[in-house]
Amino acid sequence: MTIRVGVIGTGVIGTDHAAKLQHQISGSTVSAVTDIDRARASQVAADLGGARVFGDGHELIASDEVDAVLITSIGETHAEFTLASLAAGKPVMCEKPLAPTTPECEQILDAEVALGRRLVIVGFMRRYDAGYRQVKASLDSGAVGDALILHNVHRDTGAPESFTDPMVLTDSMIHEIDVTRWLLGEEIVSVQIIPPKRTRHAFAHLQDPQFAAFHTESGILSTAEFLANGTYGYDVRCELVGSDGTASLLNPTLANEVTGGVARTVVPADWRARFSGAYAAELQAWIGGLERGEIVGPSAWEGYAATRVTELGIEAIRSGQRVVIDYVDKPALYR
Ligand code: NAP
Repeated sequence: MTIRVGVIGTGVIGTDHAAKLQHQISGSTVSAVTDIDRARASQVAADLGGARVFGDGHELIASDEVDAVLITSIGETHAEFTLASLAAGKPVMCEKPLAPTTPECEQILDAEVALGRRLVIVGFMRRYDAGYRQVKASLDSGAVGDALILHNVHRDTGAPESFTDPMVLTDSMIHEIDVTRWLLGEEIVSVQIIPPKRTRHAFAHLQDPQFAAFHTESGILSTAEFLANGTYGYDVRCELVGSDGTASLLNPTLANEVTGGVARTVVPADWRARFSGAYAAELQAWIGGLERGEIVGPSAWEGYAATRVTELGIEAIRSGQRVVIDYVDKPALYR
C-alpha cells in the first residue's frame, strides 16, 4: 500500500520533505501540493514528476487523492490545517510548532480527544537523530546514572532582519525544549532567560546570543545557548551530565582533512546538512506506521507542551524573572 501524501506549503522544508517522500522514503508518494505562492507549488509539483496542485490547503485535505497530510506552511497556519485534517479524519504531520499559541494547541488537543484516536504528529526530528538517540540510550540504560544537568548549544550561521527575540524561542529553542522533555522524560516546570553580551553580527533589535535555563519536575537543569549569527557554520551540541558519567553528542563528521600536520573537521553548513538523516528517519517512521495502521511520532501533547514553554519563555524575556510553567491536564489519550 502506498501512502499518498498531500503537502501544504512548498517553501524550504516542504520542498525538502516532499522530495524525500517521493524519492527516498519507502511506501509513500506525493500526490498533491499547495502553497499560497501557486507558481512555487507548480514548480515543486513539476520537479516531483506531476503531483496535483491545489488552490488551497482545505481543497487538498478534502481530496480523495490524499491519504495523509504534511503541513509545512508558516506556523500561523498550522492550527487551521491540523484541525481541518482532523475533521477529515486524515493522519497529519505538522512541522513545528504545532501552533504558535497554546489556545490553538488546546483546540487541537480537544479535537483529537473528541475524535477518540491519535492522528497528529509533530515534526520534532531531533528525536530521530542517531547522536541524540545514543545520548538517550546512555541515560535509559543507567550507564551515566541519574541525570543532573543537560547542556544544549545551538549555533546558526546568520539570521535575517525579520528574526525577532520571541522567534529565538518559537523557531529555534523549541528544539532544545523538545529534546529536554523527550530525553529526560519529564515536563519543564520553569524557565528563566539570561541575556549574554551581544554579538556585533546581529541586527540591533535582536538579543543574540540568548541563554535559557529550564528546570524539570525532578529538578534537573537544562541550559540552552542559542546563537543566531554564529557565522562559522551550523553547530548543535548537547552534553548530559549524570551522577555516574556523561554522554555527549558529537557533531557528525562530514569530512576530516589532515594537511600540513593539522587536522580539520568540517562543520555542517546548515540545519539541512546536519539533520538530513533525522528528517528521513522521522518521515520513514511516520509512513511505516501509517502502512501498519499506526500513528508513529511525537503527539499533539508534545507539540502543546513545547509551545507552552516557548510562550512562557517569551514572558520570561520580558520580565527577566524565572517563570513557573503550568499545563492543562494531560488527556488520557496521551498518557
Ligand atoms: P518557508 O520557506 O517560508 O515556507 C513556508 C511556505 O508556506 C511558503 O512558501 C509560504 O508562502 C507558504 N504559505 C504561507 N501561508 C500559506 C497558506 N495559507 N497555505 C499554503 N502555504 C502557505 O518556511 P520553512 O523554513 O520551510 O518553514 C515552514 C515550517 O517548517 C515552519 O513552521 C518552520 O518552523 C518549520 N521548520 C521546521 C524545521 C525543523 O527542523 N523541524 C526546519 C525548518 C522549518 P509565502 O512565502 O508566500 O508566505
